[in-house]
Amino acid sequence: MPEIAEVRVVRDTLKKNILKKKIKNVRVLYDNLIVGDAREFERKLKGCTFENVESSGKWLIFKLGEMSILSHLRMEGKFFYVESSTEMRKHSHIVFEFEDGMELRYDDVRKFGRMELVKTEDIAESPSIKKLGFEPDDSRLNADYLIEKFADKKMNAKVALLDQSIINGLGNIYANEVLFATKISPFRLAKNITKKEAEYIVAESRRITDEAYKMGGSTIRSYTSSLGVTGHYQDVIAVHGKEGKPCKVCGEPIKRVKIEGRSAYYCEHCQK
Ligand SMILES: [Zn+2]
Repeated sequence: MPEIAEVRVVRDTLKKNILKKKIKNVRVLYDNLIVGDAREFERKLKGCTFENVESSGKWLIFKLGEMSILSHLRMEGKFFYVESSTEMRKHSHIVFEFEDGMELRYDDVRKFGRMELVKTEDIAESPSIKKLGFEPDDSRLNADYLIEKFADKKMNAKVALLDQSIINGLGNIYANEVLFATKISPFRLAKNITKKEAEYIVAESRRITDEAYKMGGSTIRSYTSSLGVTGHYQDVIAVHGKEGKPCKVCGEPIKRVKIEGRSAYYCEHCQK
C-alpha cells in the first residue's frame, strides 16, 4: 500500500503531467470506486481543469476550481498518463480524457481504491480528511501531542503508529521502520511510551518518511508509482519484509508477527 512518501511521489509526478489540462470527458467503468453517484462524478467534472494536485498523508487531493477529487489508492491504485490511442489495460477503471488527446487512467487490480467529488471549500470538513492527524513533517506533531493521543489508548505501539488520526500517512512499512529506529517494541502499550520515546518517534517518523520521499518511495510488491518513477527506499529498509535476516544493529534474526492482521517486523533484542 502506498504510504505518505509514495503518495507524495505520485502527487509530484501527476503535477508534472496534468496541471492546466482541461477534461473533455470522464468515463467511470467500475462505479463502486466512486463514493456517491458515478454518473454525477462524470457529469460534474466534464469541462473542469486540473489546477493543482495536493496530498494529505495517504490521500491525493485534485483541485479543479470549485470542485475537488479526494482519492485514496488503498492497496494497488495507480495512475497512468497515456495517449488516448494506448490500449486499455484490463484494470483501468476510471478515465479522464483531455482535450489534447492525452488521458489520465486510474488502474486498480483489487478495486479497493476510492474517489470522491467534494466542493473545494468543504475539503477540510469532509469525513475522510477531517479525522486525519498530523503528517510527520507538520510542526504540530510533537511529543506532547503524541503523549496526549496515546494516553487513553489501550492499543499497542504498532497499532498506534498506524492510526491515521494520530500520525497522518504512516503505513505498515514506515511504522515498522520507525519502531525499529526508536527501539520500541511493537507490543508496547502506547500509553506507556515515555516523552523521550515520543520525541524519538517524531524525529524518526520525520527522518524516515523524508528520506523515503527523496528516494522516490519504496517499490515493493504491489506498489509502483506507475508514472515512470521507481523508488529506491526498499534498498535501505531495516526490518520491513526482512524476516529471518540479521538485524543491522545486533545481528539477531528479524521476527515477523501479525498484529491486527498486519505484519510487524522487529528485532526482539533491540526493541523493548
Ligand atoms: Zn537487533
